[in-house]
Amino acid sequence: MIIGILALQGGFELHEHKLSELRVESRRIIYPKDLNNVQGLIIPGGESSTMLKICNELFFDDLKNFAKLHTVWGICAGAILIAGKVENPNQKSLELIDFSIQRNAYGNQNDSFIAEIKFGFLNDSLRECIFIRAPKIASIGPSVQSLATHNEEIVMIEQTRHLASTFHPELSDNLDFHEYFLKKVKNAV
Ligand code: GLN
Repeated sequence: MIIGILALQGGFELHEHKLSELRVESRRIIYPKDLNNVQGLIIPGGESSTMLKICNELFFDDLKNFAKLHTVWGICAGAILIAGKVENPNQKSLELIDFSIQRNAYGNQNDSFIAEIKFGFLNDSLRECIFIRAPKIASIGPSVQSLATHNEEIVMIEQTRHLASTFHPELSDNLDFHEYFLKKVKNAV
C-alpha cells in the first residue's frame, strides 16, 4: 500500500514520519501523475488559499477523480480544500464531504490552542488535539458523521470513505488517527 501526501505546501513532512512509524510507504504528491498506484491521500494543513493557487485546474480534476474510488483525509487547510462549501471568504473546494467550513474561525495565530478531546472510535478516550489558525465546521449534511466535538464545535467528521479534521494529529504523540485513516483506506480498496 502507498499513501500519497499532497506536498504542494504546508505540513506534509510530519505525516511521512507517522506513516513510516506505522511501516506504511508514503509518496509526496506534487504532480497529478504522482497519484498513480496510490491507495489513499492525506491533504495536510497549511494555507488553503495558497494550495488552491498552486493546484491548477487539471490537478483539481485529478484529485476529484482520485477521490471517487479512494479515501482522502483533509486536515485543517486540507479539510477546507475538501469541504462542500467554504466561507470567510468563499473559495473553491473539492466538495468531497457534504459540510460547510469557516476559515480562521477561532481567530488569528495567537488564538491557536491545544485541547483534550474524547473520541468515540477510540473507546471514548481522550487525545491531545492541536488547533492552529483552525477553521470551524459550520454545518454538516445528513449523511455526514461527527466523530468528535470540542465546546460544541465539531472537530472531526467522516462521510463514506473520506475524513476531515480541523486539528493536527501529526503534531501529537500518538498514531491513532493515522491508524484510523489507514483502516478506511483498506476498506475502500
Ligand atoms: N488558516 C488556514 C487556512 O485558512 C488553515 C490553517 C492550518 O491548516 N493550520 O487555510
